Amino acid sequence: MKNVKIENVSKQFGKVQGVKDLNLEIKTGEFFTFLGPSGCGKTTTLRMIAGFYYPTEGKIFFDDRDVTLLQPNKRNIGMVFQNYALFPHMTVDENIAFGLQVRKLSKQEITQKVDRIRGLVHLGQYGSRKINELSGGQQQRVALARALVIEPDILLLDEPLSNLDAKLREETRIEIKRIQSELGVTTIYVTHDQTEAMSMSDRIMVMDNGYVKQIGTPQEIYNRPVNRFVADFIGETNLIEATIFAINADEVQVKTKNGLVLTGRKQHSSPTLTHMIGDNVFISIRPESVNLGPGENTLTGTITFVEFTGISVNYIVDFIEFSLKVMIINKNAQLKNIGESITLNIAQESLYFLGE
Ligand code: ATP
Repeated sequence: MKNVKIENVSKQFGKVQGVKDLNLEIKTGEFFTFLGPSGCGKTTTLRMIAGFYYPTEGKIFFDDRDVTLLQPNKRNIGMVFQNYALFPHMTVDENIAFGLQVRKLSKQEITQKVDRIRGLVHLGQYGSRKINELSGGQQQRVALARALVIEPDILLLDEPLSNLDAKLREETRIEIKRIQSELGVTTIYVTHDQTEAMSMSDRIMVMDNGYVKQIGTPQEIYNRPVNRFVADFIGETNLIEATIFAINADEVQVKTKNGLVLTGRKQHSSPTLTHMIGDNVFISIRPESVNLGPGENTLTGTITFVEFTGISVNYIVDFIEFSLKVMIINKNAQLKNIGESITLNIAQESLYFLGE
């Protein structure tokens, strides 16, 4: 098990900037996720760690060893790709054993290691099945077993669940997390799916357009996003433009363009925000933190959309200047109709202020 250090790494493809000036340290045994929209540079970063791409600038270390220009097969990494890249006509055991045969281990050692890892991924009875006789979820576990059997220092997973249906994806997510924590292997996971990232990771790096937008634990990036991109990309949120017009010891009062006054708490702000009267800010309000009825920050608007999901009633409420997505989690909440007026309140501590 090794840690990974990335120092001032950039990757340029001709005129296209893949990744720009990336600095990052992934701890030994950590489950670390690269998250962001398509084209943000996740796979490029993973490929540089694997050795399939060399950085245009900067260095990569595994512990203290500089691996920047080392060939992929000299890095002792395990990899799982989106399409698994298994040998379809070979058995499960033959696929898992492949990397060990390349390393010229004895037959006895290979059998021992393959048996152990097949058990770990819960494919105990499937050793002699052909890959093309397995379900997608089972194939995914063979790919994982094949990557893990070589006892890699670092496990790299590139969108490994994207070929599975929603239910299987959720089950496999839990399985991967279980196996990773049993082995304690340093793991780097690439996904554009924020639920996967949030539920599996010790820490997440949110990327956009080749740049790092934030690195933190799932709680940190959900509760304390440092910019609008992260607030919007992680979970759902309402973003409203406003101007600061009063600051007390702990309170911040803002006014929207149409003069609506909202009060929040100073400490519920992005760490990068300095509070000055007259400054423009964005208020981030999570749909689930809006409540029914009057209270702090009471607002009355008109319902333009309603849906019942079983867990919640979701509304879109129009306030002329902006609309709010609202999620009411209350079994007894009476369903209102489109066109009706609705009174809502938002606790001061549910307003979160962002500067950019
Ligand atoms: P996705 O989720 O779609 O795989 P990603 O976040 O993994 O996206 P990358 O594949 O890392 O994104 O791509 C980052 C940028 O670099 C994109 O603009 C992409 O078009 C470009 N890029 C990636 N690989 C190459 C390449 N081999 N040649 C030229 N441009 C590339």
